[in-house]
Amino acid sequence: MGKPTGFLEVERKTVTEIAPKERIKNWKEFKLHPEDKHLREQGSRCMDCGTPFCHTGHLVSGMASGCPVNNLIPEWNDLVYRGRWKEALERLHKTNNFPEFTGRVCPAPCEGSCVLGVIEPPVTIKNIECAIIDTGWEKGWLTPRPPETRTGKKVAIIGSGPAGLSAADQLNQAGHEVTVYERADRIGGLLMYGIPNMKLDKEQVVQRRVDLLEAEGVTFVTNTEIGKDISATDLKDQFDATIFCTGATKPRDLPIAGREFKGVHFAMDFLTGNTKHQLDHQFDGSLPEINAKDKDVVVIGGGDTGTDCVGTSIRHGCKSVTQLEIMPRPPEEREASNPWPEWPKIYRLDYGQEEAAALQGDDPRVYLVMTERFIEDGNGNLTGLEIVNIEWVKDEAGRFSPKKLEDTRRVLPAQLATLAMGFLGPEQTVIEQLGMETDPRSNMKAEHGTFNTNVEGVFAAGDCRRGQSLVVWAINEGRAAAREVDRYLMGVTTLP
Ligand SMILES: Cc1cc2nc3c(=O)[nH]c(=O)nc-3n(C[C@H](O)[C@H](O)[C@H](O)COP(=O)(O)OP(=O)(O)OC[C@H]3O[C@@H](n4cnc5c(N)ncnc54)[C@H](O)[C@@H]3O)c2cc1C
Ligand code: SF4
Repeated sequence: MGKPTGFLEVERKTVTEIAPKERIKNWKEFKLHPEDKHLREQGSRCMDCGTPFCHTGHLVSGMASGCPVNNLIPEWNDLVYRGRWKEALERLHKTNNFPEFTGRVCPAPCEGSCVLGVIEPPVTIKNIECAIIDTGWEKGWLTPRPPETRTGKKVAIIGSGPAGLSAADQLNQAGHEVTVYERADRIGGLLMYGIPNMKLDKEQVVQRRVDLLEAEGVTFVTNTEIGKDISATDLKDQFDATIFCTGATKPRDLPIAGREFKGVHFAMDFLTGNTKHQLDHQFDGSLPEINAKDKDVVVIGGGDTGTDCVGTSIRHGCKSVTQLEIMPRPPEEREASNPWPEWPKIYRLDYGQEEAAALQGDDPRVYLVMTERFIEDGNGNLTGLEIVNIEWVKDEAGRFSPKKLEDTRRVLPAQLATLAMGFLGPEQTVIEQLGMETDPRSNMKAEHGTFNTNVEGVFAAGDCRRGQSLVVWAINEGRAAAREVDRYLMGVTTLP
């Protein structure tokens, strides 16, 4: 423990961000790189509490409590406080293949279970994680480390999101010959085409890591859809083991009147189309086909995908943006039913809402509302949404259902509506081709811990196994599935 009195002397301070009205002028990341002094002070707040919950990664009440990759947080907090950055980086890489991704986009369940958080604001763990890895890249400490020997075993990984990339990294380091197949034109899964550039830079951060993996010997094959361009059975026969990391990409639809009108889109079509356009056009200020310029935008869904639609619409120059949420507004403070170390279910203003508030004067989210129908101009172009307030009422069986408050029915103007209401699991083509069993939610059936499916030599990890989740869980699963594949191929494994 670096400074026994750090938590008594230093207040929590997160890294500085570029002000909302300024940052919306471009697609660049907006968190500023903090000074060494700031980070060392924040690191000194770690109490080295003896029983750190921050790195446990258990599910408590169905949500992650502590870090799902079990990052050795108190150790690197202390090393940062002492200015021993290289050692901090070594400790960080022991558990997390890609801290530059989690340090930017993780919701940080570690901070929700930090012991200091019982009485004071928690340690800024996520900021410190990001600074350690960014320092490592800046100082040139990350160089290709191809394995010294090869085993001669061949592994195919389908899907290049964080689950596929972490599995590829681990298996390549174990000496196997790894090929990653990706149907998109760029590697990264939702790191590339999902999370927008202002949260996670595609060229400077995602591609940099992909280049390193390639230099270490991982083979990437893009524009190739398994199940279509190569059948899943043919692929399986060509490799000693196969891991599916195909994500949970089937979006939840809203089959109400007017769904077919021009201007109603799935959030992922809007977000993916935008990132691809920006990258293909080198962020030259032009806009993709589906864009929000001068439009009233309504985002249906109050989660992270919805927030990304808000931030993207604002950068397109929308006229207004509203975000609809069917659930009630969360409380300002933890409720008694949501105690530490559970993930705090409290009201937060994420970056997109912060930007909308700076422009429009208020949080764009409207809670406890349902969309009844889309409205058109007579030519099939969207002009608005009819919405109604609801309240959640309990029926005799104890189930909650929405009750419409009829006198609140009204129309919101909209020329663009994005559907950001979650995902329904993985696409089924490869599952059917291989005769893979699924769980009741249509995910690939494989136990967390063994990751093997009912098909010999075929494993599943990440969102296609657990349903839409988080980058940090995908890394957890990719690493652990790699360990099981190594054991399957070699009989024993030394992978963590
Ligand atoms: C808009 C959005 C924002 C998000 N923001 C955050 C965030 O801020 N923080 C966070 O922690 N999590 C966030 N998430 C969730 C997170 O991105 C996912 O949980 C994570 O990426 C899952 O990783 P994965 O590797 O399992 O799958 P994915 O990242 O979904 O990657 C799967 C890949 O498989 C490819 N694929 C699918 N089928 C085939 C096939 N048959 N052949 C070849 N390739 C195939 C897909 O093209 C895709 O590239 C967000 C999700 C979305 C949708
Ligand atoms: S990966 Fe997420 S949970 Fe783990 S230390 Fe980093 S921010 Fe915290």
